[in-house]
Amino acid sequence: MTEISCTFLVVGGGIAGVSCAETLLVFADPKDSIILITESSLVKAATNLVSLGKVLTRFDVEEKQATSLNRAIRVLEDQLIRIESESHFIQTVNGNKITFRYLCLCVGARPKLIEQAAGNPNVIGIRDTESVEQFQNRIKEATRLVVVGNGGIASEIVYEMTGVQVHWVIKDEYISSTFVDSAAAKFFQDRLSCKGEQKAIIKRMRYSEEKAESSTAKRGAALGPDWHKTVDISGKLQNVPGSVQIHYKAEVEEIQTQSEGYPLKLRLTDGEVIECDLVVSATGVNPAINFSSDRNFRLGPDGGLFVNWEMATSVDDIYAAGDVCYAGWDHASHWFQMRLWTQARQMGSMAARAMAAKRAGETIYQDFCFEMFNHVTQLFGYQVVLLGRYNGQGLDDKYEVLLRMTPGLEYIKLVMVAGRLQGAMLIGETGLEETCENLILNQLDLTPYGEDLLDPNIDIEDYFD
Ligand SMILES: Cc1cc2nc3c(=O)[nH]c(=O)nc-3n(C[C@H](O)[C@H](O)[C@H](O)COP(=O)(O)OP(=O)(O)OC[C@H]3O[C@@H](n4cnc5c(N)ncnc54)[C@H](O)[C@@H]3O)c2cc1C
Repeated sequence: MTEISCTFLVVGGGIAGVSCAETLLVFADPKDSIILITESSLVKAATNLVSLGKVLTRFDVEEKQATSLNRAIRVLEDQLIRIESESHFIQTVNGNKITFRYLCLCVGARPKLIEQAAGNPNVIGIRDTESVEQFQNRIKEATRLVVVGNGGIASEIVYEMTGVQVHWVIKDEYISSTFVDSAAAKFFQDRLSCKGEQKAIIKRMRYSEEKAESSTAKRGAALGPDWHKTVDISGKLQNVPGSVQIHYKAEVEEIQTQSEGYPLKLRLTDGEVIECDLVVSATGVNPAINFSSDRNFRLGPDGGLFVNWEMATSVDDIYAAGDVCYAGWDHASHWFQMRLWTQARQMGSMAARAMAAKRAGETIYQDFCFEMFNHVTQLFGYQVVLLGRYNGQGLDDKYEVLLRMTPGLEYIKLVMVAGRLQGAMLIGETGLEETCENLILNQLDLTPYGEDLLDPNIDIEDYFD
């Protein structure tokens, strides 16, 4: 057994872990040592950060060699298997014993497969490079496929796949419900009906994936945005754009394996039967607590490691960030947790600042980014900015919506309560990000402006300058 010791030990080479280690470089005493443990030789890092407002930041996610990180971060390719919190050390699969002063767990999450899948090789979840390779190989031979789930991943897959008949099974009344409301879903749906004819150009720089050199490099962080641009996800139906049939308010009730024709036969809760080659299960994730410990961690209702606003777990000197954790503090009125890049990066950085401050005996405050939910993404080829309670989350349906939509161009939705802005969904290049951020944060009474707020002849940015 090799014995190693450090001040700060970060486990996980995803966005949360890398953001934590890189922020430690800025805030920790340079005499303190930092170790990052990654299961893969490739890590994920946020690059090309563009600030779109006070908290809103657009960035690219790059997969790079762990060795290309700043040399002050010692990178070990290894896997955590046990934590001895009393004695402040961990054990790894390679037989290392690593003693730490502070530990930050950024081990991410694993895809949740639909219950009926139980060991069925024709039901796959998509999370990392390995699962995409598996998906890519399987879809080549497929003519019909079922996608289950209604979040960002399912939406992306359905939009991007060609040469295959897709049945999209969603339990809601409209598509992409994690991110959008029913009206915005309609706006997007036009994109699906002209699928294959002309896809919008994605303006964000493309996520670049280096080729893994060793087989262990395959195990790794969740994929980056635009992951589907680097792999061909087309089915067997050559020169056919593919078709999408959406099954609303339905779930998979049963999956049977067949020896003839399509290998799978699915029965949905609405009684419909679909035969297909493959099922892609994109129904969310479970925090990846894949190690043992001498002490039990307090868990949140979703099974994540319960953390306070400093990202500290219930076990002394152990922090957690990203998909693995459950945000257990009293949230600001316009913030909530969603397992996304943005929050993985923000949490990793917050954990680093908190650990460095504790080490130095200093007081810190929660980062401003936790004041308001903020996320920039791409859906169906459009930039989508989500701010605050953009879907009326937690407002008990007691809110008004101001909407402006120009088909094929932009969709602007403002969520108002008593004349004050609570959230915004901005699809397309609207240029309204910063104004909306300000209006959510300062809770200005907008009653005097009424519906003029979204009058296309009025520039609301100038209004509130
Ligand atoms: C297909 C797909 C598309 C997505 N698209 C988007 C998107 O467009 N926008 C968006 O915001 N979010 C998206 N997400 C969500 C986003 O990927 C996650 O929220 C984010 O990656 C979480 O980062 P993380 O660092 O917490 O976890 P991860 O990225 O999962 O990293 C966890 C790391 O910990 C390592 N690890 C696990 N266990 C151990 C152990 N015992 N020892 C050592 N290392 C360990 C893993 O190998 C991995 O490197 C997508 C997710 C998927 C699966």
